[in-house]
Amino acid sequence: MQLSEIKNLKIAVVGAGYGGAAAAKALSLLGAQVDVYEQASRIGEVGAGIGLRPSTMNRFRAWGIFDAIAGVSSPSDYFEILSATGDPIMKEAWPAAGEQAHTHLIHRGDFIDALLGVLPEGMVHLGHRLESLQDRGDRSVLTFAGGKAVEADLVVGADGIKSVVRRQLFSERDPVFSGEHAYRTVIPVDAAHGMVVDDNLRMYIGRGTKIYLLPLRHRGQVSFDVTALNPDGTWAPRVTRDDLLATVAGFDERLVNIARDLDMDTVNVRAVYDIDPVDTWHTDSVVLVGDAAHSMLHHQGQGANSAIEDGGALADALRDADSVKEALALYQATRKPVTDELQRISRQGWTEEEISDVFPGQKPAAAAPKE
Ligand SMILES: Cc1cc2nc3c(=O)[nH]c(=O)nc-3n(C[C@H](O)[C@H](O)[C@H](O)COP(=O)(O)OP(=O)(O)OC[C@H]3O[C@@H](n4cnc5c(N)ncnc54)[C@H](O)[C@@H]3O)c2cc1C
Repeated sequence: MQLSEIKNLKIAVVGAGYGGAAAAKALSLLGAQVDVYEQASRIGEVGAGIGLRPSTMNRFRAWGIFDAIAGVSSPSDYFEILSATGDPIMKEAWPAAGEQAHTHLIHRGDFIDALLGVLPEGMVHLGHRLESLQDRGDRSVLTFAGGKAVEADLVVGADGIKSVVRRQLFSERDPVFSGEHAYRTVIPVDAAHGMVVDDNLRMYIGRGTKIYLLPLRHRGQVSFDVTALNPDGTWAPRVTRDDLLATVAGFDERLVNIARDLDMDTVNVRAVYDIDPVDTWHTDSVVLVGDAAHSMLHHQGQGANSAIEDGGALADALRDADSVKEALALYQATRKPVTDELQRISRQGWTEEEISDVFPGQKPAAAAPKE
């Protein structure tokens, strides 16, 4: 599309998570008029770390925000998998993208602050919960809790795994319980019992449990994340210290000691869900990005990275296609095969043996998702 046409586009992004913020940045760099509507009255993220892949960092470089992200993250050379007791299983450099070879490890809170911090003042409207969306062909009307309505030429549904945009226009299917829990917190490196020796991400795998140590050197901290098979699908289950210690029993004594010392009030406990692939992500004026389009399990560490890439791909498509309608089709054709595959392989986090240990005699669809 001509830049003059894009400048006249009024774009409403629903959700100010990683996907919404990235889409807003990329689309506003094209000159479009972008507004972001976020349900929360203040921005907050789970206390945990994630890795921003080389290709994601390249997007940030192209958007002129590399330094803003690099300034609150630490570069890591490789990812290592070890047994529960620390025997090396596999060590792999991060897949490089061009000259960028490092994955940057970052605290989720710092990441969203940095991303929203590079958006123009006044672009993000907090306290706006989308309630309904009317698709009128070449434009849509969004109605928020409280009754406020706005019109847009393009609506970007970046409203996460429980997306209202997806539910209203594309799929009413509920998120799928994975049969596992995630327990996440951030602790000082000094409290890690000597387990943090450099800046690289390590995963220790036991039977039905994985422990991730993700160093955040720039903060003097490490993200301590446990993922474990568990049949309780309550969205925010109650988990005690004894439950956690039972989950990590048999791991390296130092990892067990980290768990024993935790302040359980700081531990974010979640049952883990994803969604089945959604057939279509767009109409002529509404499109899904991030978890709203393709929420995936975290075993490949690709959910947030995919959300960022979606924002970039959507802006590229608008620039390259002749109309919004064509751009949305091009965006889906570019991204959906990639995320369909990531959704599929992310569901292969456990062996059949591990699953039958935790779910004896049964194979819940959740724990053994269909291919
Ligand atoms: C345990 C765990 C570990 C993970 N680890 C990694 C990792 O290492 N690497 C990685 O890349 N990914 C990881 N992920 C995945 C990653 O967190 C998600 O893929 C990512 O947060 C998706 O971003 P998003 O912006 O699409 O959605 P979200 O982050 O969910 O943001 C959606 C936003 O929309 C807002 N919203 C929702 N509904 C409405 C509404 N009706 N109106 C207005 N606003 C609304 C929400 O408040 C929120 O701010 C992990 C996920 C989990 C659960």
